[in-house]
Amino acid sequence: MSAAPIRIGVFGGTFDPPHLGHLLLAENAADALGLTQVLFTPAADPPHKEAEAVSPAPHRVKMVELAIEDNPRFALARIDLDRPGPHYTADTMRLMQQLRPDADLYFLMGGDALRDFPKWHQPADILRYARLGVMRRPGAVIDLSKIEVVIPGITDHIRFVDAPEIGISATTIRERLHDGQSIRYQVTAKVERYIMEHHLYRNIP
Ligand code: ATP
Repeated sequence: MSAAPIRIGVFGGTFDPPHLGHLLLAENAADALGLTQVLFTPAADPPHKEAEAVSPAPHRVKMVELAIEDNPRFALARIDLDRPGPHYTADTMRLMQQLRPDADLYFLMGGDALRDFPKWHQPADILRYARLGVMRRPGAVIDLSKIEVVIPGITDHIRFVDAPEIGISATTIRERLHDGQSIRYQVTAKVERYIMEHHLYRNIP
């Protein structure tokens, strides 16, 4: 009898900050898709000017570590942080496949990301290396027939993850902090403490 394949979820994002929407997606995807591990893969700092809009990678990495540290199925992957850019997901997944040739890869994303997927850099290439694990997100209507027109056959590569839909976003969290409102229960307590201790998002909505 041959062993069941190892399945790894690669969860890319800015994670500025990581919130309960991310954790719900990762945990439910792990269950639904039978993932051995979910690798939280923070995006590198964007080049030059846009960089001001995103917290520096060391803060985002630390917050991801705090958010996932009590979950044995979750780990941090530095693959996009430790190599020079640009950091296209197609390259990330090709490298990931070289690192883990034994594994079936799933790239995890929310419904808004799937809706925008046809506009990504070489989206069809991503599907050469990974299936997509998608969690629906309030407000993001997905019309698969439209996406199929641009990327024929994509539907066969998509697995929808059954999970409670939750309307938390990093943007809203940053706005709430900017306005002095509570973010309790939208991020883990440790992430909330880190944000407060480092005075993050006070000025950046
Ligand atoms: P921002 O508001 O800054 O755009 P975000 O909350 O979308 O941030 P990202 O780090 O950009 O967070 O998201 C990483 C991935 O997690 C994306 O694929 C996104 O669709 C997904 N995601 C984030 N929040 C949710 C949510 N509440 N439900 C489902 N998917 C989500």
